[in-house]
Amino acid sequence: MVLVTGGARGLGLAIATHLHELGARVAVADRDADALAAVPSHFDRQVMDVTQPDAVKAGVADIVSRLGRIDVVVNNAGVISSEPFVNIMNPAGMMMDYGRFREAVAVNMDSVFIVTSAVVEHLVTRRGKGVIVNISSISGRGNEGQTAYSAAKAAVNAMTVTWSKELGRWGIRCNAVAPGFIGTPSTQAALSEDALRHIRDNTPLRRLGEAHEVAQAVVAVVENDFVNGVILDVNGGLSI
Ligand code: NDP
Repeated sequence: MVLVTGGARGLGLAIATHLHELGARVAVADRDADALAAVPSHFDRQVMDVTQPDAVKAGVADIVSRLGRIDVVVNNAGVISSEPFVNIMNPAGMMMDYGRFREAVAVNMDSVFIVTSAVVEHLVTRRGKGVIVNISSISGRGNEGQTAYSAAKAAVNAMTVTWSKELGRWGIRCNAVAPGFIGTPSTQAALSEDALRHIRDNTPLRRLGEAHEVAQAVVAVVENDFVNGVILDVNGGLSI
């Protein structure tokens, strides 16, 4: 049984769909109840805001009581957020707002801690083997205009390595998949056409990635029982 957070659309839905096609039972969790209602009925669906510890604990317990277990969690829910650290044209104040920084960190970093904590408690209590896959980003290396998002994804990478060391004794592996720029609506919304052209020109493969290529990487780190603590880049070579 696989739980995919933020699975109602975008990369999460692509990951959930690929796992389903390979024969896995998949539960998708999302805060957007309407989008969740629109996903195919072969998925189990759970409305859940991954930034709320009590709601996540209750949601995970609900899935376990209905489906019996969770073996794999894909921490995909997140929001691409971009804002310059300094904006001298902003009349409200030239420095990036701390509240927006905290919000971006909550949804991209705290969420990974909160969901993994609930799932690992279930796994350790059940004495079951398990796999955690965190969806990171190329921005975890630091990206201009993405102070909060980059910091959050770097922290996700650090938690991935930490958990891979700490949870192995319970038979739990932890890996991350770090996509580069994928041709999703969220990428189109976050970046201008000029920025996208620049990215394509600087990517050795001269194109954006596709959602199914991220899904294939998730399956690769789930399937191989000796892969642990890896942050798998899926970026066409952009970071080389
Ligand atoms: P989308 O915005 O298309 O989808 C994200 C989904 O997560 C949405 O359904 C969203 O719901 C949901 N979500 C957001 N916040 C919460 C929350 N607090 N609780 C529950 N669900 C939530 O994003 P992408 O598919 O593009 O990105 C998915 C992941 O991949 C993210 O972690 C992102 O950082 C990462 N990524 C994406 C890249 C890309 O090119 N697209 C590149 C690198 C990394 P709602 O609609 O309500 O916001």
